[in-house]
Amino acid sequence: MFLPVKNGTIPVSAGEGDTPLRRVRSYPRLRNVWVKDETRNPTGTFKDRGASLAVTRLSQLGVRKLVLASEGNAGCSFALYSQMSGIRCRVYLPNDANMAKVELSKKLGAKVTQVEGTISDAGRQAAKTADRTGEYNASTFVTPFRHDGKGTMALEICEQLGWEGPDCIVYPVGGGVGLVGMWKMFKILQRLGWIRERPRIIAVQPKGCAPIVDAYNKGRTDIAEWKSPNTIAKGLKIPNPLAGRWILKSLRESKGLALKVSDREIRNAMFNVAKRDGLLVEPSSAAAFAAILKLHETGTIDRTDSLVVIATGSGLKTLEQF
Ligand SMILES: *Cc1c(COP(=O)(O)O)cnc(C)c1O
Repeated sequence: MFLPVKNGTIPVSAGEGDTPLRRVRSYPRLRNVWVKDETRNPTGTFKDRGASLAVTRLSQLGVRKLVLASEGNAGCSFALYSQMSGIRCRVYLPNDANMAKVELSKKLGAKVTQVEGTISDAGRQAAKTADRTGEYNASTFVTPFRHDGKGTMALEICEQLGWEGPDCIVYPVGGGVGLVGMWKMFKILQRLGWIRERPRIIAVQPKGCAPIVDAYNKGRTDIAEWKSPNTIAKGLKIPNPLAGRWILKSLRESKGLALKVSDREIRNAMFNVAKRDGLLVEPSSAAAFAAILKLHETGTIDRTDSLVVIATGSGLKTLEQF
C-alpha cells in the first residue's frame, strides 16, 4: 500500500527492516532519546531497505544488469539483492572506501571498480557506463526506487511509538535518500490520520562536508558543491547531492534544523554509544549521536523532548576507523 509495487508482489527480501527501537542511555540528562537500530539489517545498514525495494521493482521491470556509484554501503546492499535475484551488479567506489565494504561487495558477486576522487567522480563513471552498455543506473536519486524503501523507517517508528510521531528525528544526511523518504512517509501518515503531528527533522553533517547544512542555514533553495570534502564520515562525504532541492524542501516543511559536527565529536560519540549502549556504529552514523549533545547544550531541545536517532550503519565494516 505504501510502496511503488503491485499488490501481491513478493519482495526480494533478506529480512531487512523491522528493526528495534530502543532507549538510549548515553545521554543521562535527556529522558526521551531512542535509537532506531538499522545496524541489524542484513548487510549492517539501512541501505538494505532501499536496495530491497529497488531490486524488487527492477526485476519486475526486466532489468538484468545494474550499475551504481556508492561510498560502500549501497554497493554491499545492491550486491546482495542483485545476487539473490540473478541481476548482474557493477559498483563504482571511491579509492578511499572502507576495505570491508569493497570486499563484501565483491564476495556478494558485484564487479567493483575503485576510482580516483569522491563519490561524484564515481557517479560520473557509473553514468558513463550506463550510457555505453545500457546497464540500469541505480545510483542515489538517479533511480526513483530507493527513498520509499528507506521511508518505511518512518512507518515503523510511528508504529513502535504507538502511532505517535516523535518530536524530532535526528538523521545523518548524505545523499538525502532516507531524509526525503521518511519525510514523505510522515506526510502520508498524517494525511491518513494515523499520526497527529509530524516530527521535525534534524539533519546532521560533518564539518568537512556540509553542503546541505550550509545551504539550509543560509535559506537557499539549492545546494552549492562543497569543495575538497574531508571527513572520517565517508557515507556523508557527498559534496553535491543530486536531490539537494528536495532535501532542503523536506527540511523546510518539517520546520527542521541542520547542524555540523566535527570529526572529533563524531569519534567521541562513536566510542560513547559503543560503551554505554552497546551499539557499534560507523562514523557516518555516529555523527547523528554527536549532534545530540550539541542540541542539548544550546538549549535547542530540552530533557523531555522525544528524539529518535537513526543508527544508519554498523561499525563492523569500519573497524579500521574504530
Ligand atoms: C548512506 C549512508 C548515510 C546517508 O544516507 P542518505 O540516505 O544518502 O542521506 C548515512 N549513514 C550511513 C551509514 C550510510 O551508509
